[in-house]
Amino acid sequence: MSEIKVTFVGTGDAFGSGGRLQTCIVAEGPASKFTIDFGASSLIGLRREAIDPNSIDTILLTHLHGDHCGGIPFLLLDAMLGSKRARPLTIVGPQDTETHLRKVQQALFPGSQRMVPKFDLNFVALTPGTSAKVADLIIHNVEAKHTRETNPLAIRISVGDKQIAYTGDGALTEELIHLVKGVDLLIAESYFYDKPVPWHLNYPDISQLEAKRIVLTHMHSNMLEQVDNVEEECAYDGLTITI
Ligand SMILES: [Zn+2]
Ligand SMILES: [Zn+2]
Repeated sequence: MSEIKVTFVGTGDAFGSGGRLQTCIVAEGPASKFTIDFGASSLIGLRREAIDPNSIDTILLTHLHGDHCGGIPFLLLDAMLGSKRARPLTIVGPQDTETHLRKVQQALFPGSQRMVPKFDLNFVALTPGTSAKVADLIIHNVEAKHTRETNPLAIRISVGDKQIAYTGDGALTEELIHLVKGVDLLIAESYFYDKPVPWHLNYPDISQLEAKRIVLTHMHSNMLEQVDNVEEECAYDGLTITI
């Protein structure tokens, strides 16, 4: 039996709700360490949790919104100039991830495109509705019902003998229900508590999802006001669990 340590480095949304950092979840498996999403504040979050950015082998991105991928340029700049990374890094994401991130890097740090990493930097593009093997991870995905221009995905990761699913951002769909069914850990967006907000998973939708353990995240202040009143486990920045 493999144990996976999961640290919720950032559990907020794009609007700073609750003063929380943007989405970044670090999972440490038997053979590698990976993050799920890497929002703009994620490098700060890793430092807060005393997680060495150079120890991350793989970054999985669900979609191209800044609160889920905007931290990559900061990580790459630190890897080249600060932390002097030597080990390879693989960034896995939806279609156009590499092109999009290069544009974001150029916008945030003009001139940085001339710098060449001294480590292997690999990009893997996920085709919607398929599976991919990256290092010791098998990643299944389905298209998420979210802003189309972000190429949104929900993902299920097999690592060791465990399965972790993450909804990403997106409304409830039959494909999502099927993808996450029975996993060891489901990390689920729970954006609003009692207001049906489109393109997101809201609290009333959670009852449709089945998993051995469910942790809610990416909560608007409307949902954060209810975390003590719901029976589901709610994430906070710095929460660490083992599955
Ligand atoms: Zn988001
Ligand atoms: Zn989004």
